[in-house]
This record gives sequence, C-alpha cells and structure tokens, in this order.
Amino acid sequence: FLAGKNALVTGSTSGIGLAIARALRDEGASVVLNGFGDEAEIAKLCEELDARWINTDLTTVEGAEELMAKTVEHAGGVDILVNNAGMQHVAPVEEFPVDKWNKIIALNLSSAFHTARLAVPHMKEAGWGRIINTASAHSTTASPFKAAYVAAKHGIAGLTKTLALELARENITANCISPGYVWTPLVENQIPDTMASRGMTREQVINDVLLERQPTKKFAQPEDVAALAVFLCRDVAQNITGANYEIDGGWTAQ
Ligand code: NAD
Repeated sequence: FLAGKNALVTGSTSGIGLAIARALRDEGASVVLNGFGDEAEIAKLCEELDARWINTDLTTVEGAEELMAKTVEHAGGVDILVNNAGMQHVAPVEEFPVDKWNKIIALNLSSAFHTARLAVPHMKEAGWGRIINTASAHSTTASPFKAAYVAAKHGIAGLTKTLALELARENITANCISPGYVWTPLVENQIPDTMASRGMTREQVINDVLLERQPTKKFAQPEDVAALAVFLCRDVAQNITGANYEIDGGWTAQ
C-alpha cells in the first residue's frame, strides 16, 4: 500500500531502523538508508531493499542537511520520515563528558528537528506525510546515569507533539514509538560485560538487570516496532497524531 511513497529512515543500517526500512519496503515504499557500518554489508542491504544509502553524520547540522538534500535529489521528496538514529552514554551527571552530552542531544533530538524542517515542505506539497520518531520508554520516565539520553528522548516527544499540532490540517501526522528494551545487537552485546562485572548468569542479567523494569520479562523485537511504524502509515491512522506509543512490556504502566 506504500507504492510510490519515498521513505527516509535514519539509523537504518542496523537494529530497529533496519527492521523499519525492511517493513516499509515490503509494503512497496522506496527506501533511503542512513547510518554507519561495514560498506560491503550495507551494499548487500541496498541490493536486498533496492535502496539508496546516504551516509552522513547526523550529529552535525551539515550532516542532516546533506542527508536531506541528497534524499530529495535522489527521490524527489520525502513522504515518510523516520527519525530513528540514536546513541547512548551511561555516566553519573558530574562525570558526564560534555562532548557526549552534545553528541547525544544532536543525534537523538536535534537531527529530527533538522530532517523534519527540511522534509515538511515536500510533504505539504505532496499533501500527505508521515513523521515517525523512535523515542523510548525514556521519553516519559527516567533512569539514573542517562542524563543526555533521557533529556533528548523527552525532547523528541515534545517536538513530535509540536509537529503534530502544526501539521494537523496538512494531512501529515507525527508520532513517537517508544520501545522499552528491544532485542538488538546493542543490547545483546551488553550481556557478557554485565555478566562479568556483576558476577551474574546470563539469565540473571536478562531478567534482573536488562528487563528489571519490563514486567513481561520479554524483549520487544525490532519487527514489533516496524509493524507499528507501518500501521502509522496507513490511511486508517490518519487521525492518529501527536501520540506516543509504548512498546515496553508494561514498563511505563508502573
Ligand atoms: P543500533 O545501534 O542498532 O542502531 C543505531 C543506528 O543509528 C545505526 O544504524 C547507526 O549506524 C546509526 N547511527 C549512529 N550514530 C549515527 C550518526 N552520528 N549519524 C547517523 N547515523 C548514526 O540501535 P537500535 O537499538 O536499533 O536503536 C535505534 C533507535 O531506537 C535509537 O534512537 C534508540 O535510542 C531507540 N531505542 C532502542 C531501544 C533498544 O532497546 N534497542 C530501546 C528504546 C529506544
């Protein structure tokens, strides 16, 4: 049902973004990939998804502007914008590296402002648009030692609501998807270190550390997030805007 639509998914060379790109492609959208990674692997992904890879660093304004300019040059516009690129750093606030703070705010929050401000004119012209932001359970709750991440994710929830209101009469919706813990390489790779540093078994790390606040004790899968992103692109979702959908196994219900 997305044939003829152009989708840009930031941070789509792995994890949740890749699953969203695949799911949009499966529905017929043309997809632009963005993010870092092994060039040969990404070339294979581009072939699989018949996609274009535009590799710019979204921690800079120039990187976001270049991504949008090249996307428009390649696809003629952007109908579906998925702001998904993100990074994390964990440290007590008094030790939090200033550079990490700046990068996380730039990537997890400001890049979505830049892509949106540059995509909206094209969406208005087309008379249709979908902005989907990957936020987090940390867009409505906090955890210690994640000052920049929590601040940026709360910020993107606010940005999304503002976009929803500004674009409400334009047939353009803006929503957040807020996962708890999703089973991605990022999460999986934390397990051995945490086992070693805390002297725990794999099961203890999964249930008592990673899924401590996720009552279902189950990870979401990237495909679960992608399925919701696809739903938000449907015509039946045209009146869903400014929403923040949790996929967090009950985390934020507590
Ligand atoms: P991931 O590390 O697998 O993917 C991150 C993507 O962003 C990659 O494609 C990476 O190359 C790209 N990226 C990183 N720095 C970039 C930069 N400077 N410029 C452009 N691209 C860059 O992570 P993921 O788990 O799939 O996370 C995707 C999003 O989901 C993030 O916004 C994250 O905060 C959010 N999220 C993840 C989880 C989880 O449990 N995995 C939970 C809640 C929210």
